[in-house]
Amino acid sequence: MKKSQLLRLGRKYGTPLFIIDHKVLRETYLQFKKHLPRVQAYYAVKANPHPEIVKTLYKLGASFDVASMPEFEIVHDNIKRLSAKKRQEFIWDKIIYANPIKAIETLEELDQYKILLTFDNIEEVKKIKKHAPHSGLVLRLQVPNTGSVVELSSKFGCPPGEAVDLMLAASNAGLGVEGISFHVGSQCTNFENYVQALHLAAGIFNEANSRGLNLKLIDIGGGFPAPYDNQVKPFRELARKINSEIDRLFPKDIEILAEPGRFLCATCATLVAKVIGKADRNGKRLYYINDGIYHTYSGVLCDHIPYGVKAFKKGSTQISSVFGPTCDALDTISLSNELPDLNISDLVYTENIGAYTWASSTNFNGFPPSQVIHINK
Ligand SMILES: *Cc1c(COP(=O)(O)O)cnc(C)c1O
Repeated sequence: MKKSQLLRLGRKYGTPLFIIDHKVLRETYLQFKKHLPRVQAYYAVKANPHPEIVKTLYKLGASFDVASMPEFEIVHDNIKRLSAKKRQEFIWDKIIYANPIKAIETLEELDQYKILLTFDNIEEVKKIKKHAPHSGLVLRLQVPNTGSVVELSSKFGCPPGEAVDLMLAASNAGLGVEGISFHVGSQCTNFENYVQALHLAAGIFNEANSRGLNLKLIDIGGGFPAPYDNQVKPFRELARKINSEIDRLFPKDIEILAEPGRFLCATCATLVAKVIGKADRNGKRLYYINDGIYHTYSGVLCDHIPYGVKAFKKGSTQISSVFGPTCDALDTISLSNELPDLNISDLVYTENIGAYTWASSTNFNGFPPSQVIHINK
């Protein structure tokens, strides 16, 4: 997005303003499909659950990964509206419920939809058997998360040594076991994680099928890194690795799913905020802006992404601290942000702020989340 356009929108609509550019969203999705043509993308709704994002991706043919009933409803409602006729067929191939732990009430509701569910332990198998026996099961495998910005393997994933027995236990209980999934950790810039995970999954896939299961799918999860800086290697390099490993390790006729979240939605959004306070303290410039870590900059804390702010104004810069609007000192966006001399009411902006940001905004201290607008829809 051009700076002049951002500035104009910020002035027109007021700040903090979260601008979603659907052209960028479409281009990113098509880039994913182009480089991973065998892979069906199940957009991980948690990265940014805005219904308009779900709609745009659905129209391009995406499927969805949800992890709670409210996320399920966002997808279900929009799809119902967009495809009245296709109602019957969408659900199997359009939604995976990829939270390995599901409350009993959730399973009871999900059973009617007969969707794919992930699981990683025997207690979950018993729960599914009792409360959602019509689901298709996908084992979540524990894989190395080395070097990923957000580590996920400590919380979820069946240890490889137990995986086949667990799938057999589910199958013996009368449940349909469809395949294996993993997650290499979010913002995974260590592409070897995918290679190792695919190897692990292939070994288990083959062993499971030789012991009588009939697995049909591999779900390679999320983790695809957003290009926050030029340290992140191009997506096509990662895609090339994944494609050649899949072709080498798995039967030709299996289905390949992925659950990209961040990669699809990070780059489509820009935040415009406003300087509301300014001070010089201990030789350093401090700015206070009207959005912070309890709001759109939540990713600074929860997602470990060092978002900074940029100025529209030109001029020589100095290292400044940037704080959010709440009374909590934790509400610190950056302690080392190069900025020119700004005045109260000047606007600032942050690019590539679409993933794990607006999604985890709160109303803390009475400050509401940023207003959302859409362009190029
Ligand atoms: C969060 C999550 C994703 C999305 O991860 P990204 O790193 O944003 O691509 C995919 N699958 C599962 C199970 C998740 O928990």
